[in-house]
Amino acid sequence: MAKPSRSGAAVASLKDSGFLLRKIAFSESSFILKVFTREHGLVSFMAKGAKRQNSRLHGLLEPGIHVQYLFPAHARSEIRLLTDVSLLRDFPAVREDIVKQSLAQVFGEVLLRYTPDETEAPEFHDLLLAGLEKLEAAPPDRNALQAAFAAYVLEYCDLAGYRPQFRHCVQCGDPVAGPNIVFHVDQGGPRCGRCHREEPGSQWLRENILRWLEAVQQGADLPILGRTDAGRAEDFLLLYLGRHAGAQKPLKSVSVWHALMD
Ligand SMILES: [Zn+2]
Repeated sequence: MAKPSRSGAAVASLKDSGFLLRKIAFSESSFILKVFTREHGLVSFMAKGAKRQNSRLHGLLEPGIHVQYLFPAHARSEIRLLTDVSLLRDFPAVREDIVKQSLAQVFGEVLLRYTPDETEAPEFHDLLLAGLEKLEAAPPDRNALQAAFAAYVLEYCDLAGYRPQFRHCVQCGDPVAGPNIVFHVDQGGPRCGRCHREEPGSQWLRENILRWLEAVQQGADLPILGRTDAGRAEDFLLLYLGRHAGAQKPLKSVSVWHALMD
């Protein structure tokens, strides 16, 4: 797509779909946006005049909606000038439910914190899109939302190349069993009693937590998990993700989500 510039030469534009992850006020009328796009990965846009009520961009610069972004192909700086946006898909059940909305923020922060390489952006963009679709359809209760969170993190790990497994000893390959099982975060799996040894990065997990995580990963019917164990499963997933993705500072949006859910 091209439109004439003031000098008469064609200015090539690019289109890409994506999700707004962060919006930062800039000057009296503008925003800088951090957007995760399908083809370009994480992009910063300058949205000029977007704070004005009559801006074309008004209402479309919100998190949790799927949007198409139009911008010049040639960028003079790291911040690209946003030309136009159009709505691709709205998720009203997410937008109108503050708890679901806060979980959507968690999904976004994972991509912001552990940003995948541009070449892998399409898969991660589609992961976020699928995550929001599931969130839109999920019943608004605690169990369903915790499962949605776990599924999202496990799929993220899968795409990023460090899929954990919860069934077989990483040393001998035998199935693991017992009320408490040691999981080796660096090796991405549990160890059986015979192969057990204490080392940094090992985590004790109750067997029911392991079975629940495995069921989430496989999209199977979920066994009931009590509130405390669900919290432990979440802590484990965040630890696992942080350790493999290279940063272990907590995600800020997780505590907001928890506070709203309680
Ligand atoms: Zn073993």
